[in-house]
Amino acid sequence: MLEENQFYRREEDVLDVYERINEIRKQFGLPTPYHDYAHGYGWCGMLEAQCSREKAYGYIVLINKNLNNASMIFTKAHEHGHFLWYIDKQEIIYQKFKNPHLVKSKIHTNEDFGNLCGWIALKIANYDLNECFIMNTENPETEIRIARLRNLVENYLLD
Ligand SMILES: [Zn+2]
Repeated sequence: MLEENQFYRREEDVLDVYERINEIRKQFGLPTPYHDYAHGYGWCGMLEAQCSREKAYGYIVLINKNLNNASMIFTKAHEHGHFLWYIDKQEIIYQKFKNPHLVKSKIHTNEDFGNLCGWIALKIANYDLNECFIMNTENPETEIRIARLRNLVENYLLD
């Protein structure tokens, strides 16, 4: 899917995430030092830079390294799902279902899509989805919504 001059690089053991982001921003010619606070399990962001007439884009995924294996798999897929959403390639994922139209009709937001991708990754990694739950004590409705997406993956994902 990546075209010429596009690249993917995985970095591990980044000690200071914010410093690393600042380094990348510098590389892209973005001047302001960036301070932010990432809540939750993961974070993703887009970078866009223009130098004379050349444009460059970057996509960053950050994952909390203290997650257990299942949460790590879910979160990585969730953040990469956001990437597919940003570049408008959701169809790649919908085609992995017995009934792509049904699944598509249940996905209303980028967040839904990320969660759908998270469940797919867990299923592919051979987790029993019926034993997996996303806890959201602050918002029980979100919990129910995520569980519905889990059931879609459980019932309709192609082998
Ligand atoms: Zn998300």
